[in-house]
Amino acid sequence: MAFEGLSNRLQGVFDRLRGKGKLTEEDVSEALREVRLALLEADVNFKVVKEFIAKVKERAIGQDVMKSFTPGMVVIDIVNKELTELMGGTHTKLAKANKPPTVIMMVGLQGAGKTTSSGKLAKMLQKQNHRPLLVACDVYRPAAIKQLQVLGEQLKVPVFSMGDQVSPVEIAKNGLQHAKDNNNDYVIVDTAGRLHIDETLMEELQQVRAAVGPHETLLVVDAMTGQDAVNVAESFHKQLELTGVVLTKLDGDTRGGAALSVKAVTGCPIKFAAMGEKMDALEPFYPERMASRILG
Ligand code: GDP
Repeated sequence: MAFEGLSNRLQGVFDRLRGKGKLTEEDVSEALREVRLALLEADVNFKVVKEFIAKVKERAIGQDVMKSFTPGMVVIDIVNKELTELMGGTHTKLAKANKPPTVIMMVGLQGAGKTTSSGKLAKMLQKQNHRPLLVACDVYRPAAIKQLQVLGEQLKVPVFSMGDQVSPVEIAKNGLQHAKDNNNDYVIVDTAGRLHIDETLMEELQQVRAAVGPHETLLVVDAMTGQDAVNVAESFHKQLELTGVVLTKLDGDTRGGAALSVKAVTGCPIKFAAMGEKMDALEPFYPERMASRILG
């Protein structure tokens, strides 16, 4: 499970704080130094860690920690609150169009989990009695369209495709029309990724975006990719004005810290977390719950 290392480290720091009884200011500073190291070791972005620690200290001074009866508990509570803030504070819901269909565009690098997450999202919406349509715009990755069709069949969710010889912009436009004609209230557009960000990819995604006017542009980020996730998120956000992030592969053995930095760096809320390859392994992301899980 992701964050295991971070979780163990932080729990160790807090156990020592709790076990101490009366604390000195030096104990608290030492604990914060350890928190800082734990975050850095978990691959949280350097600047993000710096700001995080500064905010914790600010709150600690504001709350007059040393005068409290249980300074250890107060510090733990402050770190918990800041960790929750770091991940976005509160849960951010998926946007909904005033007039259906709601269009959700899935973007990200190849292999991040776009196609899989598109299927998972369709399943989640279907369970809520919606009528999603999946649109297959990834015309470059071999078998991506087939993969989406297979998922669609498995989930009994319709998949709109026009093969791989038509431009993604055309497919997206036609897909949206198809949804309107067939009363689909959600359209999930699975777009192409590349192994690295390149201009052609971005231009094409911008064109798709202009053609369908998505209510949500979700960046699918592989939590295993380390610091690169932050750079990827920054560039996508600059070019496509992301509205949210889907964190995938949190079930894997990842330090996860880079993923934690994505919200802080882009300002985009993490809306969903994927924790496995199966179609039901997608959850709405709750920062409070994730923070509690990390802090044990
Ligand atoms: P795309 O190129 O972005 O469309 O990526 P895919 O959806 O094809 O996913 C790439 C690989 O990652 C596939 O083998 C998926 O089964 C796998 N994958 C996607 N999401 C998750 C996840 O949350 N956990 C795990 N363990 N694997 C995932």
